[in-house]
Amino acid sequence: MRAGIVTGAGSGLGEAAAKQLAREGGKIIVADRDQYSAERVAEEINASGGYATPFVADVSVHEDAQRLVRFAVSAHGRLDFAFNNAGITPRLVDVHEIAVQDWLDVIGVNLTGVFFCMQAELAHFVEHGGGAIVNMASTAGVMAHAGRAAYSASKHGIVGLTRSAAVEYARRGIRINAVAPGPIDGPSAQGLPSEIRAVIAAKTAMNRPGTVDEVAAVVNFLLSDEASFITGSVYEVNGGQTQL
Ligand code: NAD
Repeated sequence: MRAGIVTGAGSGLGEAAAKQLAREGGKIIVADRDQYSAERVAEEINASGGYATPFVADVSVHEDAQRLVRFAVSAHGRLDFAFNNAGITPRLVDVHEIAVQDWLDVIGVNLTGVFFCMQAELAHFVEHGGGAIVNMASTAGVMAHAGRAAYSASKHGIVGLTRSAAVEYARRGIRINAVAPGPIDGPSAQGLPSEIRAVIAAKTAMNRPGTVDEVAAVVNFLLSDEASFITGSVYEVNGGQTQL
């Protein structure tokens, strides 16, 4: 049975991916900085016949990322894949008004957090002959996101990190890709007023947001052996948003 880690798995896209990966037969570490959310998702997976273990970790803390990988290996006996998904979205503000702490928080969680997790995961994969990683980017990682420059910078950074690392590790049996979703109808979008939801939907060619399961399906594919010749790719899952 393959085993993997999903960070930020206590909600939204991470939760959907953890559940889909578990349905495909993977043993999943449900990692989140929020203990209640991690435990809830792991319990739901186990109750529906899957295999999951919760773990509390803040990916922006180097030691937490190291502990996460050590725990995954000891709890499930192996580590084959990781979805580095945890991220935060700052409020809309122009660059000259970004508070220094907000910049540091967004880069710290979204970009440095992915880097810390990758370091720990890659050290294990190098030693054990391979593995697969998917990092969570965003449309904001491949095009401008006015009003969210810090977020966009963090996601562009993830794209660069993914592509560079993919080349570094390609001959060691390790594949590294990213997903770049457009607007998704997850928990954060569901509370928005209908006018705003309509504006967000119109950003895509399909005139609708995606679902968390539509992103999870791509993550699941990229982490599976079916994607054995795919590395260094950034999969846009955005209903044609970047073609408009
Ligand atoms: P969400 O807020 O529903 O879930 C994020 C989860 O990550 C939460 O459970 C939270 O507790 C956890 N988390 C936050 N900071 C963490 C940290 N430092 N360490 C560990 N866990 C942490 O968000 P979501 O919409 O599911 O977004 C997940 C990822 O997808 C993010 O990286 C986000 O940038 C990206 N994304 C989202 C969308 C969208 O439309 N929702 C689009 C593109 C990309």
